[in-house]
Formats: sequence, structure tokens, C-alpha cells
Amino acid sequence: MSQLKITNLNKTYPNGTRALHDVNLEISNGMFGLLGPNGAGKSSLMRTLSTLQEADSGSAFIDDIDILNKPKEVRQILGYLPQEFGVYPRITASQILDHISILKGVTNRKERKDLVDYLLQKVNLYKERNKSVKGFSGGMKQRVGIAQALIGDPKLIIVDEPTAGLDPGERNRFHNLLAEVGQEVIVILSTHIVDDVKELCTDMAIMNFGKIVYNGTPADALSALNGKVWRKTIERSEKEQYKKMYNVISDKMVSGRPQIHVLAENNPGNGFVNVDPNLEDVFFTRIHTETV
Ligand code: ADP
Repeated sequence: MSQLKITNLNKTYPNGTRALHDVNLEISNGMFGLLGPNGAGKSSLMRTLSTLQEADSGSAFIDDIDILNKPKEVRQILGYLPQEFGVYPRITASQILDHISILKGVTNRKERKDLVDYLLQKVNLYKERNKSVKGFSGGMKQRVGIAQALIGDPKLIIVDEPTAGLDPGERNRFHNLLAEVGQEVIVILSTHIVDDVKELCTDMAIMNFGKIVYNGTPADALSALNGKVWRKTIERSEKEQYKKMYNVISDKMVSGRPQIHVLAENNPGNGFVNVDPNLEDVFFTRIHTETV
């Protein structure tokens, strides 16, 4: 069982953007969802944890390894899957994994062959192992990405916006694979897609403007909103007026008309009906008000 502890982490870019603002998080084995709108600071945090950039102040430890000061040690126990895994298109899945294993220090040929076969089976690409990755679908490429992230027996796997561009079937398969991996190590899944977190994560944080605005289980976040979310379908022309009158947390089109969710302690009347809160309500409530 590993523990990642991030304390008062700060980062301001040279242009003055404060991307990390006193970030504190404790994360242990399992799938951890880091949710936030674009520009929230997720990638800045992921890049810092992956030792790809430095923080200005604060600390981050995996067990007793100092991430900010011992990047080489961290890289030994880190698996990183960036948004788009840039594979070398003309070589086979098997060759890629073999190559990356060498880079990660698995020098014994037999050991490497066993590892590559094991990984190919794990991500369900064994049958395709001798095919060029060039012809792989987006989901298959992401599975190669997960396989390479698993080389070296990592304690921490960081996955940045992994499902962009995957079709629903591929997304499902990828989710199942992540969930399986997440039983053994810490997996941080950074995403702006609420559904990814809803389906996968036992613990989560929501980030906005560089700050952690929620940290806890999805279930606790939902129950904090119980009885407070109200829904109404309105006309498009009424939208601005409703936004002035109510605390509108989201609106989406349903059958061509806007359906709004508002946050209110008491029944707002006026045709609103109470609905069970969903994670999207949590997300929008937290990023609108930060403190609810
Ligand atoms: P997210 O991953 O949640 O979209 P980022 O960490 O990429 O957020 O960005 C956080 C903020 O920092 C944004 O305002 C972004 O424009 C800014 N930012 C990110 N990288 C840099 C950089 N290298 N230089 C200056 N500003 C940056």
C-alpha cells in the first residue's frame, strides 16, 4: 500500500499565472479522479508529480520518496500516460514495449520477453502483438500506453485526459483495464469528463483556478447536495432571466429546449422539481461557488 502526500504545493508561471495555489492532497491505492475545467491546473499538477516541471514551493512524497528533490528515484516508480501516447507508428506493439523496457532498465532478454508477453496479455493485445501500431484504433493505442506505463512495477500511475477521442466501447474497455490496474497501485486520472470519474473513482478532487475546491468521495459530494438540486425545462429566451433569478448550476439542451439545474435550500416553486444530484451538479456547484 503506497501513499502520496502533497503539501502546500505552489506554482506560478513566469507570465504571472498561478497554476497551483496551496494544493494539499493525500492519495492511496486505487483510482483517484482529478476533475477540473480546462485551465484549472490539472496538467501543471500532473507534470509536477511526473517530475517534468518544478514547483515553486511545497512538498510531495510517495511513501518516503521526495518527488520534488529526487526526480530520478521517482521515475523508477512512476508510470505516465500522457494525453496522446506518441507511439512509433511503424513498429509493432511487441517491439515498442520491448524498447521501452530496455529504456527502463530491464536488460535481461528473457526477463524482457516474459514481461512484454505478460503486459500484452494484460491489456488484451497479445493477438495483435506483431501488427504495426500504425493500424491500431485510438483505444488500442491507449492500451499500448497503459502497458508501457506498467513497465517497472510502478507505485504511481498518472493518466492525463485518457478517453478523448475514444468511442464508447473503447472507453469502456479502457476503464475496465484502469480499474483493474488501480487495485494494486495509485492511479491518478486527470480529466474534465465527469463521467470518467463517476464510473471509476473511489476518491476524487475538484480543481479550479489552481485550488482544490473539493476532496473526498464522489458519494459524500453527492449527499451534500441531496434535496438541493431542482430541475426545470424552460424556453431558450428565458435562460438569461432564470440565471438572474436563481443559482443556475448547469443547463443543457434536452429535445431542443434548455433544461436547467438550480441549487436551492428550499423548493423554488415556479414549476421546479427536485432531482437526485449527479456528479455534474457537484462539479458545477464547486467550480461556481468554490465553498458550498
Ligand atoms: P488544465 O490541465 O487543468 O487544463 P493547466 O495546468 O494546463 O490546466 O493550466 C493552468 C493554468 O496555467 C492555465 O491558465 C494555463 O493557461 C496556464 N499555463 C499552463 N502552462 C503554462 C506555461 N508553460 N506558461 C504559462 N502559463 C501556463
